[in-house]
Amino acid sequence: MIKKSIAIIGGGSASLMLAGSIDTQKFDVIIYEKNKALGRKFLVAGDGGFNLTHSEEISNFITRYAPRQFITPFINHFSNQDLRDWLHSLGIETFVGTSKRVFPKKGIKPIQVLKAFEQLCINHNVKFQFGYTWKGWKDKALFFENHLQQSFVTCPDIVVFALGGASWKVTGSDGTWLNFFNEKQITTVPFLPSNCAYQINWDATLIHKHAGSALKNCCFSCNEQSKKGEVVVTKFGIEGNAVYALSPNIREELMKQRKALLFIDFKPEFSKEDILLRFQRFKKTNMKSFLKDCLHLTDLQIDLLKNATNKETYNSINLIADKIKSFEVTIIDFSPIDQAISTVGGIHLDELNPHLELKKLPNHYCIGEMIDWDAPTGGYLLQACFSMGKYLANYLNQNN
Ligand SMILES: Cc1cc2nc3c(=O)[nH]c(=O)nc-3n(C[C@H](O)[C@H](O)[C@H](O)COP(=O)(O)OP(=O)(O)OC[C@H]3O[C@@H](n4cnc5c(N)ncnc54)[C@H](O)[C@@H]3O)c2cc1C
Repeated sequence: MIKKSIAIIGGGSASLMLAGSIDTQKFDVIIYEKNKALGRKFLVAGDGGFNLTHSEEISNFITRYAPRQFITPFINHFSNQDLRDWLHSLGIETFVGTSKRVFPKKGIKPIQVLKAFEQLCINHNVKFQFGYTWKGWKDKALFFENHLQQSFVTCPDIVVFALGGASWKVTGSDGTWLNFFNEKQITTVPFLPSNCAYQINWDATLIHKHAGSALKNCCFSCNEQSKKGEVVVTKFGIEGNAVYALSPNIREELMKQRKALLFIDFKPEFSKEDILLRFQRFKKTNMKSFLKDCLHLTDLQIDLLKNATNKETYNSINLIADKIKSFEVTIIDFSPIDQAISTVGGIHLDELNPHLELKKLPNHYCIGEMIDWDAPTGGYLLQACFSMGKYLANYLNQNN
């Protein structure tokens, strides 16, 4: 049987799952990667929390993605539990943390996980071309330049793009390829940061005192979406899982009106009436001691309230209770895109058929973060990249 050739461009998470799962009895597979090694962004992710996926129940799991309809078939094909089982088969044990996120078992380093992926590809006879940067097309052929500035063209039977997003350029995922697709009349969406810090003009004295402090167990809302959790207040503004999860909503507001209003409920477990009742029962009349000793607000929360109110409001239990339940903060910008954990933008969803094939370029597929979808951190990003890689491997195996 004559084997078909597959060129996978980019050697990150989505690519490795595809290459490790494709039937190499049927296909000759080469990964072209601009770096001298695979999975640089995977290792960067490993430096932080390294959530490989999240263990929540699948019906909730898929609600984390936008647009949900796009990602659902891939997650249904290869779920969070499938990923854990698959990693187990590679010798990578995982555990569920208190946050329900899934991590490699203690003692397993990110480089070991990456090496397990790489070894699987080697065992499958997948070939690697390192230092090869894809630079578009020359006529119908893929055009590359290698690390010695030599040009190279190739015409494989099947091409899979797995070029990643546009943050942390140092990892190789720089998003500079949008124009190559535009030249083929393929619509792309400009990249924007997601899962990033947001800029706030804090009062200078307040931030001098509190930069680096966390707002814990609060509920954050923007544009009718809420998320309980924690953020850190920084000189730049605000960052952390709770605001990362609100990224689509914050982004929509920032794009519409160049600002986004974030509302923070400092006491989500109390209603306003609970606060008023506690004040009535509190023996002292001093507001600060009520906030601190009775409501257990932190110094940061109390200073935020003080800073945002005049004396009259601060000392009125009715008005201050409103502020405690809905403290308004104005976000004025995103962090620079390169510092974002992920990006949205890339290949427009309308350009792909349900099997991730470019409608205008048959036998050319896209997988991973390079497509315009979004998800919060916490394992959802890697899971979607792995699921797309697995889905496409299965589709190609069955249809060739
Ligand atoms: C700091 C940080 C922490 C993160 N933590 C987590 C986490 O804990 N959990 C989670 O789920 N996700 C996390 N992520 C996100 C996750 O790492 C990415 O979403 C995921 O790696 C994207 O996979 P991908 O295969 O689409 O692209 P990538 O892994 O980015 O791979 C794309 C590859 O393509 C190569 N490439 C690009 N252009 C070219 C070209 N022209 N020619 C040849 N090669 C090219 C790049 O060099 C790169 O190796 C984190 C990201 C960051 C930055």
